[in-house]
Amino acid sequence: MYSVKEMFYTLQGEGAHVGRPAIFCRFSGCNLWSGREQDRSSAICNFCDTQFLGTDGEGGGKFATAEALAETLLGYWPENSGVHPFIVCTGGEPLLQLDRELINALHARGFEIAIETNGTKHIPEGIDWVCVSPKGTAEVVVIQCDELKLVYPQPEAMPERFTNIKATHYYLSPMASPQWQPGDSLYQDNVTKETIEYCRQHPKWKLNLQTHKITSIP
Ligand code: SF4
Repeated sequence: MYSVKEMFYTLQGEGAHVGRPAIFCRFSGCNLWSGREQDRSSAICNFCDTQFLGTDGEGGGKFATAEALAETLLGYWPENSGVHPFIVCTGGEPLLQLDRELINALHARGFEIAIETNGTKHIPEGIDWVCVSPKGTAEVVVIQCDELKLVYPQPEAMPERFTNIKATHYYLSPMASPQWQPGDSLYQDNVTKETIEYCRQHPKWKLNLQTHKITSIP
């Protein structure tokens, strides 16, 4: 049984695949926070802005088999596009649920599979693109990935802690500021300025912006 909070078709808003049409599948549940506000202050990850509890989002639900879930996801891709479907598995923490059976069911339908994980779970074979985003003090067990994407600054998860992780791309995402509103210049935001300055001084890292929020892509 797979529990999915929501699924939708959009453009990937960040990272190396920014702007690429993708089906997003947000799995329910995370191992670093219960998702309940009363537990936030004691959670390992306490700045989450994602709703991942339950199955009540757009296209969400419980799926009894990998085949049923993969078939439903395929329905979101434009027919006869001539382009193989691209899926981003996210959460919550998708590796609490994404298993070999589902990977096989997706590949059998031509999917290219990307995952956005907090890096605390080993990656099963067959995932085509791995983005690791470490959170707080949580131990990261993934040491090789396509993208290492750090929310910056996190006192317990600064870039220097992750020199053991080999990635093709290294991104810093400014921690979302509650003051910032769509339409404001991001450069007015001190956290964004600080992140840009870090990248300038450490050119291995690139600035990652959440373009889906800036453009309000649904
Ligand atoms: S690891 Fe990700 S999904 Fe889980 S609580 Fe943190 S930001 Fe939210």
